[in-house]
Amino acid sequence: MTEIIYHDAVYPLQPDETVLDALLRNGVDVPYACKTGVCQSCMMKAAAGEPPSSSQRGLKPTRRAQGYFLACQCKPDGRLIVGDAGEVIAARLMEKTPLNARVIRLRFEPESRVDWAAGQFVSLIRGDGESRSYSIASAPVRDGFIEMHVQRVEGGAISPWLHEEAEPGERIRLRGPYGDCFYLSGEPERPLLLACTGTGLAPIYGVLRDALALGHSGPIHLLHGGLDESGLYLVDELLDLAGRYSNLSYTRCVLNGASKPGLVVGDIGELLLQTAPSFSGWRVYLCGAPDLVRLMQKKVFLHGATSQDIHADAFIPKQV
Ligand SMILES: Cc1cc2nc3c(=O)[nH]c(=O)nc-3n(C[C@H](O)[C@H](O)[C@H](O)COP(=O)(O)OP(=O)(O)OC[C@H]3O[C@@H](n4cnc5c(N)ncnc54)[C@H](O)[C@@H]3O)c2cc1C
Repeated sequence: MTEIIYHDAVYPLQPDETVLDALLRNGVDVPYACKTGVCQSCMMKAAAGEPPSSSQRGLKPTRRAQGYFLACQCKPDGRLIVGDAGEVIAARLMEKTPLNARVIRLRFEPESRVDWAAGQFVSLIRGDGESRSYSIASAPVRDGFIEMHVQRVEGGAISPWLHEEAEPGERIRLRGPYGDCFYLSGEPERPLLLACTGTGLAPIYGVLRDALALGHSGPIHLLHGGLDESGLYLVDELLDLAGRYSNLSYTRCVLNGASKPGLVVGDIGELLLQTAPSFSGWRVYLCGAPDLVRLMQKKVFLHGATSQDIHADAFIPKQV
């Protein structure tokens, strides 16, 4: 019998059905986004039973050994007892600030103790159960709050609500944290490539601030891309950081506009390759628009970065 047990309830699976689809078919509210095994928003953990290895593809060996798997890719052979990969925490919106015409900064105060690493992401759950993934730009001890940068997507369920309706005091739930897009201490001399588009800067900003705070001594190359200059943000703060840390270089890259010092007009994928002749030995972080993240991932891999050293979060819209 192919069935899953989740929070003590039994859900029989239909032929060729994934764990995610079975839970959604039964009205169970679990986080997910891309449904293609890329974004990892639907990661779960097997408490008993073996998840098929195809559902663990792309997960770190330590995660695989602990029984983590991607629910959207998991078609078990037998009985599987599954649990959530992240915990649910209540949080209160403390602050909402515009960062540019389409991006706001939100700061949430968690109502209980929670651990995360700057650059990971959480599923933000509104009161009616609707949820979307957002990356964390802040650090637990240094900042204490959970900071997100949210771009308004026209006609969207959650981002326009966050922009226009959610006000300080609003209580939401967060599930997570997920992902491995965070700074790894212990090799401070290794070159870092941090490349992002749009609000992909949120996790990258988190990784950057952790790297600087932990005394990273190797070169750090930050590339932030946008359609035009109005799509960029935190420019003054990043210029200030680049002025204070001699190992940090910060380049803005736009598709439309006129170039000036620190601002390149062109394709971020091409700019990436001008950073170094080879990315062998580099640690690479890539976040933002899915097509560009995939393209950059391919380029850095073909130019010497190993897949273990590439940390990528593609902001794939939720498939509804
Ligand atoms: C791992 C991960 C991390 C993420 N981190 C962030 C983050 O830090 N900041 C952030 O702003 N977003 C982030 N996202 C994207 C976020 O989860 C939502 O997809 C986004 O906010 C849109 O949600 P929505 O409810 O407003 O729109 P939806 O209701 O999901 O979508 C409405 C319509 O717009 C389309 N759509 C969705 N997004 C876009 C887009 N970017 N461009 C064009 N069309 C689109 C959808 O396909 C749909 O047709 C992340 C996504 C993932 C998977």
